[in-house]
Amino acid sequence: MSDSNKPLNFIEKIIEDDLSSGKITQIKTRFPPEPNGYLHIGHAKSICLNFGLAQKYAGTCNLRFDDTNPEKEEMEYVDSIKEDVRWLGFQWEGDVHYTSDYFDQLYQWALYLIKEGKAYVCDLNAEEMREYRGNLKEPGKNSPYRDRSIEENLTLFEKMRAGEFADGACSLRVKIDMAHPNMQMRDPVIYRIKHTPHHQTGDKWCIYPSYDYAHGQGDAIEGITHSICTLEFVEHRPLYEWFIENLPVPSKPHQYEFSRLNVNYSVTSKRKLKQLVDEGVVSGWDDPRMPTISGMRRRGYTPKSIRDFVDSTGVTKVDGVVDVSQLEFAVREDLNENAPRAMCVLDPLKVTVTNYPEDKLEEMTAPNHPQREDMGNRSLPFTQTLFIDKADFQETGNKKYKRLVLGKRVRLRNAYIIEADEAIKNDAGEIIEVKARIIENTVGKNPEDGIKAKGVIHWVSATNNVDCDVNLYDRLFTDIAPDAGGKDFMESVNPESLQKISGCKAEVNLATPRSDIPYQFEREGYFFLDSAIDLDAGDKLVFNRTIGLRDTWAK
Ligand code: ATP
Ligand code: MG
Repeated sequence: MSDSNKPLNFIEKIIEDDLSSGKITQIKTRFPPEPNGYLHIGHAKSICLNFGLAQKYAGTCNLRFDDTNPEKEEMEYVDSIKEDVRWLGFQWEGDVHYTSDYFDQLYQWALYLIKEGKAYVCDLNAEEMREYRGNLKEPGKNSPYRDRSIEENLTLFEKMRAGEFADGACSLRVKIDMAHPNMQMRDPVIYRIKHTPHHQTGDKWCIYPSYDYAHGQGDAIEGITHSICTLEFVEHRPLYEWFIENLPVPSKPHQYEFSRLNVNYSVTSKRKLKQLVDEGVVSGWDDPRMPTISGMRRRGYTPKSIRDFVDSTGVTKVDGVVDVSQLEFAVREDLNENAPRAMCVLDPLKVTVTNYPEDKLEEMTAPNHPQREDMGNRSLPFTQTLFIDKADFQETGNKKYKRLVLGKRVRLRNAYIIEADEAIKNDAGEIIEVKARIIENTVGKNPEDGIKAKGVIHWVSATNNVDCDVNLYDRLFTDIAPDAGGKDFMESVNPESLQKISGCKAEVNLATPRSDIPYQFEREGYFFLDSAIDLDAGDKLVFNRTIGLRDTWAK
């Protein structure tokens, strides 16, 4: 964790108490994703918390795939989750675990509960079960199958396992209390019949344990000391504890809940993100507009910026929504400090330097970072014809316009000061070229005649550069709370969230761009090489804008 002077959060307090009282000697946490989608920024919080606590208190953290629902789960998701955890900078203890590793043990414990008279096979269908369950105001009713004998339950459960019943024909439930004020305790189902093959266990099982039954027992088998989850599981805690008390488990973990991380202008639910992918609103789970870890990675967000952001949101028991600008701030902070600088002209306008020989080429020296000598220098070819951005030239200009204007001077970043003499137009009256002069002896110096440049603009040589395309991304939703109160988030998808620009001209150094960190394209923002292109295969260079230089949404 970054700041050792920060006050402890409530989970750290619990851990420090447990360690100092000797209740435990070493903490063990776990990150337990269900492999039914790609991870998003909310999961990043859980990852940073679980792995971060293990690091801070010299414990360990497991990665466990909570794979109890074969219908929605896939290996593709397993692989992407592993990649995301590692990319964020964490390493799990030992091998990856799967809840399905424990299916045999969980089955044995189900038999144990039946033999103890604490579980029964129930033939009610889903709808009947709902009716019998009662509601928050009314107690439920006992299932008519609740008093089956232990022998009958054992036989029926064996048959469930052997595949003798169809999906949904019956289920195994634990016998707790149908009048319990906590609905979770009203004889919850712990095994369902699903004739669906599983990505880890293949055809071995046609009955699958419920999340509530499997999760805590997985924790107990792995010796997890602090099982940290989000607030929606508060109501499940008594059930979590009931299993731990009523089964001969090898250790007694505890569950602690913290509030979910929600970010405005986005949705953080795998189901909703999957809908965006399935309906083609985005190009995939790793579309740079997605709040997924893979999307943010492709966009150029750094692991550090995500860790710093998550850290800045705190660990509490109060649900809230964090402003996405707080995430963007963390990204800008990291990139401002660490991104190498480069020049790229997005909307090129030709400039001919009339007092510069056609066959001359000077190598200008430019620092890779204005404040960081350790990042070294690069050279930029200066030639008779150049490109500047169309927005950086005006015929007349005004006081506020500190760029190139006819009869006025501007500095070309890391090169000469130039003065504009003439604007050449096409038949439609559009400016297609500017004729200018360099002011001699002004590289790294002010002019001898004392007439200073109005501002500094970026440029590239018109004869020595590389072509590229850029993708400008904006927020995926225009609504601050796209899915609040049951709103259809599909209705507030931002139609301008992606603007593709081609024909951009980048400095020659970008012919072999870095793929580990975005560049700051001077005066334009931060841009990251798109990981979906293959330069070796001859694909065109594409850069994704990670983020602009400043927050344009702030009012
Ligand atoms: P989703 O609603 O997106 O499907 P989930 O909670 O079902 O999320 P899991 O794969 O079960 O996803 O989550 C793995 C872990 O990440 C759990 O411990 C869960 O509590 C935690 N987690 C999920 N979403 C968030 C979030 N927004 N903020 C913090 N932790 C989260
Ligand atoms: Mg879940």
